[in-house]
This record gives sequence, structure tokens and C-alpha cells, in this order.
Amino acid sequence: MLVQPRKIELRDEPELHAPPGGLVVRVRAALTDGTDLKAYRRGHPQMPMPTRFGHEFSGDIVALGEGVSDWSVGDAVMCVHSAPCGSCFWCGRSEQELCASVMSTKILGAYAECIAIPAHIVAQNCYLKPRALPYDEAAFLEPLACVVHSVSYARVRSGDWALVLGDGGFGLLHAQVLSAKGARVILAGRRDERLEIARSFPLECVVDTKVQNLDDLIAAKTDGRGIDCVVECTGSEDVWERAPHYARRGGTVLFFGGLPASASVTFLAHRMHYDEVKLLSPFHFTPSDVRAAHDLLVSGAIEVAPLVTSTFPLHRIGDVFAELDAGRGVKYAIIP
Ligand SMILES: [Zn+2]
Repeated sequence: MLVQPRKIELRDEPELHAPPGGLVVRVRAALTDGTDLKAYRRGHPQMPMPTRFGHEFSGDIVALGEGVSDWSVGDAVMCVHSAPCGSCFWCGRSEQELCASVMSTKILGAYAECIAIPAHIVAQNCYLKPRALPYDEAAFLEPLACVVHSVSYARVRSGDWALVLGDGGFGLLHAQVLSAKGARVILAGRRDERLEIARSFPLECVVDTKVQNLDDLIAAKTDGRGIDCVVECTGSEDVWERAPHYARRGGTVLFFGGLPASASVTFLAHRMHYDEVKLLSPFHFTPSDVRAAHDLLVSGAIEVAPLVTSTFPLHRIGDVFAELDAGRGVKYAIIP
């Protein structure tokens, strides 16, 4: 439980029962992510405290709810923590990422021995984990679905130039997904530990913005034209405002890193109008994004293992967040 900012408590709770149509999963790996860190530092509007905590996980089924026939106790599963309702205005328009109840019916509590999965998630966003895929890698299903959704907005063609601003977990995932689509990827960041991971991926260029001039490099690489697809993965206002500057005429900017609710940003209008720079802000994912993320993980098309800095037992969850809070590591795997 996250009971207040920077305070996590482990609590004993009664044994979980599987809801009708749902499952109880014994968590075998849960991953930290940037949203969890934001909630840890300053709270989160979708997570009033005290709250169950953690939402990226995989594990083994230990109980089946009434009416479940497609799954068996002992099956290894990979799933996400939300699913759309299928009947609201947005679901009717195939904008399931905006489903009216997708946030209110999501589950938290992956930093635990067991988690209950409700029927609507089991029916839409739950997959059998192949034996060859380790649990901590299978737990990337949720963040990778967000990235697949984001990249789908950019209509990337083979050979396009993509710029990823930010070297955190989401920046490193975006770089790989864009590269797998044939884009020539430039990743820009500031943290040595993370840039080193980026250099192990098949990217065009990894830029340390502490010492390298990004503008000069982009001009040289693109004949002065600019970037086809810019992705903002830092969640900071100054980088949001800077991002359109890197885009070519007709290019696309994806604002992936969310800002606090009170934030507002300013852009030069002429870039949007006379240069037709498209500004898009992808959020969350749809069931088809989850399926595509599943296929990427299972096929080994992208490498997620290097993003796991290290593993910790559940009772050290407080130490893990202290590490993240201090700016160390990318993602940590909690192994209950
Ligand atoms: Zn809906």
C-alpha cells in the first residue's frame, strides 16, 4: 500500500477470491515504472491514498472465478491492469483508450503476493505466457502496449528519422519499437547509465545532451530538414515546448510523457500552421495495442531485459523506490 507520498506499507490481507469470470494470479514478477514513481513522490489523481500499488506484472493462476473455462490453475499469464467496457460512447467509436470507465475499473496491487483479475480484463487483455519468456519480461506487456499505441499515431515509414527525447524506460521502449518499424532513431538523454543501455540497441545515434548539440546533429543527419517523428518521453514542460522545434515541415510530434494537471505549455503557432507540424498526445492503449505488444514480446523483436536494472524481494519495495527516487536505475523487478 502507498499510504502517503514516500511511504509504502506492507499489510497482511485476507486471502483473495476470484471474482465471477475472473482469476487470482500469484505474482511472479512486478515492474516499477514512471507513473508509480510520480505517485510515490507527489500522489496521483487516479490513485487516492492509501492505495494498492503496482500495475505491471505477470504470474501464475491460483484460482478461477465462477464461469471461467478457458484457463486452468497453474497457467502462466501475462496481462495488463485495465480493459475497456465495450459499451460507452468512446468504445463505440473504437477509442477504447478513452473508455469512460477504463480508469475507474482498472486494478492496482501488483506489488503483492497475489492479485485478483476481474472478468473484463480476463476476457480482453489476458494472454498465456510462453514458457521461454521470463516473468519479468512478460510484465512489460502493459508499458509496451502504451508505446505501441503511441507509435501507431505517427505513421512511421521505413527510413524515416525519429527522435526520442528521454532515456527512461518509455524512451528506451519507444526507440526500439520505432527502430523495429524501420525508422532511423536518434535517442537523446542525459543519464550515462541509461544512454549506455540505448547504445546496446540498433539505433542510428545516441546523444548525450550534456555534451552534444542536438540541433547540429539533426541538421547534419537530415540535410537540414528536421525529424519526421519526435517523441517526448520526459514529461517535463520545457521539453514539451522544445519538441516541435525538432520536427520537419509536415512532421509529427508525440507528447507521450504526461505533465501535472496544472501544467500549460506554449508553442509557436507558425510551426503548426505554415509547416503543418502535427501535435498528438497519445494516452493509454486499446486491446489491439495489447495484442501487438504481446506479439512483439513473444517474437523477441525487441529487447526488454536490459531495462531491468535489478530484482528485489517484495519486503524491500521501500528500498526500490528510494533507489528510483534518487535517480538510480531504469526499472526494477519485484519478485515476491
Ligand atoms: Zn467504454
